[in-house]
Amino acid sequence: MIASANLCSVGTRLSEYARKLPQENPNVRKRYIQKLKIIKFNDPYTLQLQTEMPTTVTTGHVVDYLLNFKSPYTGDPVKNLRSLDAYRKFEAGFVQSMKGRLIENFYVVVGKVAHSMRLNEKPLNPWVIVQREGTIISAHCDCAAGISETCSHVSAILYALANLHQLTTDGKNVKIYLN
Ligand SMILES: [Zn+2]
Repeated sequence: MIASANLCSVGTRLSEYARKLPQENPNVRKRYIQKLKIIKFNDPYTLQLQTEMPTTVTTGHVVDYLLNFKSPYTGDPVKNLRSLDAYRKFEAGFVQSMKGRLIENFYVVVGKVAHSMRLNEKPLNPWVIVQREGTIISAHCDCAAGISETCSHVSAILYALANLHQLTTDGKNVKIYLN
């Protein structure tokens, strides 16, 4: 069954945030919309989220994504080695919450991650799209470095997901990460 909401033309459910993304040098908004294609052009920032979380993301998936990521704008490998360190951010409790939803074969996960230095500021909202079996498909963040798609906030929620995998394989309660 196809819900009528899925038939809306591209961009009609874009968040206020996405509508304001730059459209030239580079065209960040176009790239943003491209990433939403596999989740039927739902914008994670306006999507009704639930508590459906992937438990299949391993540290291997995370490292694979961060190390092999190629810039969508230049095609060059980004090799954002610093983002690999973001597990420290996760361990230090920067990830305040995560919510998710399964859309066909893909999980959409939106996190709330505290600012690196300024703990009193509004948290950042990275999102990731993860294939059901754990492969990380794409990511975004509303921080200044978010268009790199591999910022430390994105990395922090990826590590949180890898931790969720670890917890579930250990059979521990995973609810502590969902609120
Ligand atoms: Zn970020």
